[in-house]
Amino acid sequence: MDVHCTTCGEPWDVYHLWHDAIFETRLSHEEADAWRSLPRPKKLNDRYRKEFRAAGWEFGRSVINVIRCPCCPKDSKTNLERLQTKAALEELLGDDEDGLASTFEDYRL
Ligand SMILES: [Zn+2]
Repeated sequence: MDVHCTTCGEPWDVYHLWHDAIFETRLSHEEADAWRSLPRPKKLNDRYRKEFRAAGWEFGRSVINVIRCPCCPKDSKTNLERLQTKAALEELLGDDEDGLASTFEDYRL
C-alpha cells in the first residue's frame, strides 16, 4: 500500500514507513531496531520526531501520515486542504493504522 506525501505528493510504501525509514535517521542500528517494537504512540515522541525531522521526515500522529518527506523540494509549501483531510481521517480512525493506510490509499492521499 502506498500513501502520499502531503507536501510533494511522492508515494511512499507504508511498509517502508513502518520498518525502514527509521534507519535513515542518525539513530544507531540497535536503537532503530528497538524503535520498530515500540508501541505506536511512543514512536513519535519528541526525540524521534527530532531525528526524523533531521532526516527530512515530518509526520502527523502516525508515521503513515507523511507531511514532509526527504523528496520535498526545499521551499515547497504543504497542501493545507490535504493536510486537514488527512488529519481528520487520522482522528477518525484512531489507532487503526492499517485502516488508515488503506483509506489514504483509496483516496490517493
Ligand atoms: Zn514530500
